[in-house]
Amino acid sequence: MEKWRRKFQQFMVGRYGADQLSRFLSVCIVVLLVINLFARTHVLYWLAVVLLFYSYYRMFSRNISARFKENERYMGFRFRVTEWGKKWRFRAEQARKYHIYRCPSCGQKIRIPRGHGKVSIHCPKCHTDFIRKS
Ligand SMILES: [Zn+2]
Repeated sequence: MEKWRRKFQQFMVGRYGADQLSRFLSVCIVVLLVINLFARTHVLYWLAVVLLFYSYYRMFSRNISARFKENERYMGFRFRVTEWGKKWRFRAEQARKYHIYRCPSCGQKIRIPRGHGKVSIHCPKCHTDFIRKS
């Protein structure tokens, strides 16, 4: 057992190994295979196989800078997705707590807390008063 582990370590010297992208790829592969259990399509199965080969190709690759760049690109993409998700969660929360009304005369957006019945809203920009349900 020890011998095999050493052999594997020697094999991996100078090779790229695992990173965040390879972890993401293995999650994708598992998800694809699980979906494939319920909806048997060749497409999902072969997509999983292709991803598996790609993932191993990256792990055993000696072109470390190219693999590093791929991972950087993936991390940038992941960052954008999580930021987008945060933005949407924030918006949903705001919509639950507040009504956004536009001033009828100047179009200024005004945020009104929900649940106070009919309220008179005073526009801070043009000082028009108007009545809306909160
Ligand atoms: Zn106004």
